[in-house]
Amino acid sequence: DGLDVFRRLNRYMNELFGSQDEVLTNILRSIEVHGLPPISVSPATGKLLTMLVAISGAKRVLEIGALGGYSGVCLARGMGPEGTLTSLELVEDYARLAQHHLEKAGFGSQVTYIIGPALESLKTLVMDRQYFDFFFIDADKDNYVNYLDYCIQLAEPGAIIVADNTLAGSGIGSPRALERRGEIMKQFNETVALHPQLDAMFIPIGDGVTVARVKE
Ligand code: SAM
Repeated sequence: DGLDVFRRLNRYMNELFGSQDEVLTNILRSIEVHGLPPISVSPATGKLLTMLVAISGAKRVLEIGALGGYSGVCLARGMGPEGTLTSLELVEDYARLAQHHLEKAGFGSQVTYIIGPALESLKTLVMDRQYFDFFFIDADKDNYVNYLDYCIQLAEPGAIIVADNTLAGSGIGSPRALERRGEIMKQFNETVALHPQLDAMFIPIGDGVTVARVKE
C-alpha cells in the first residue's frame, strides 16, 4: 500500500544518498550505549541538512534540539570552516555528549551549546540581538509554532528555516499521541505555508521535513 511504498522509498534514499559514514554511525552507537532515545534525524534527512546549509552558504546556524549531536555534525559539515553552530538543548547530559561528538568530528571550536528550555534561550538570543542565517527546529513538537516565531525574529533576510517530523506519519506512541502530533504538525505546516514572511515547501523525506525561506 501507500505507506509501504513510502517506507521503501525512504530506505532507498537512506541507503544510497544518506549520511552513513563512520563518524555518524559511531555517534548512533554511542547514543545507544549512553541510553539516549533513538530519535536522531534519518541518514537522508541528515544529508539534506548538510546540503541545504552548503547550498545556502549559511555561516551562522541555530539548532533547536541537539540530542547526541547527529544532526549537529550534519549541519556543521555544510557550513565550512568559518561557520558557527549554536545548539539549544534542555538536557545537560545530552548537550555534553553532543559536544563530545562534535569535538571528535572536528567541529569542537565551531559549536556552542546553550542548556535549558529552548524558549528561554531564544528569548535571550533575541535580547542579545543575535542573528542567524539557518535554523533547524527539532525539539518538543508542542512548541514548533513558537519556535518558528522566534526563528523569524532571529533571521537575517533570506535565512532558511528547516523543521523535522512535520509529516508525523511514522512517529511512535499510542494512536492518541500520534493523532495529537498529526494535529500539531498540520497546524505548523499551515502556519508556515500561509506565512506572509515565508516562502516554503514540504519534502517527504524521513518523517517529513518543512523548508522555509525568510523573504528579503
Ligand atoms: N536534532 C537531533 C538529531 O537529529 O541528532 C535530535 C533531537 S531529538 C528529536 C529532540 C531533542 O529536543 C531532545 O534531545 C530533547 O531533550 C530536546 N528538547 C525537548 N524539549 C526541549 C526544550 N523545551 N528545549 C530544548 N530542548 C528540548
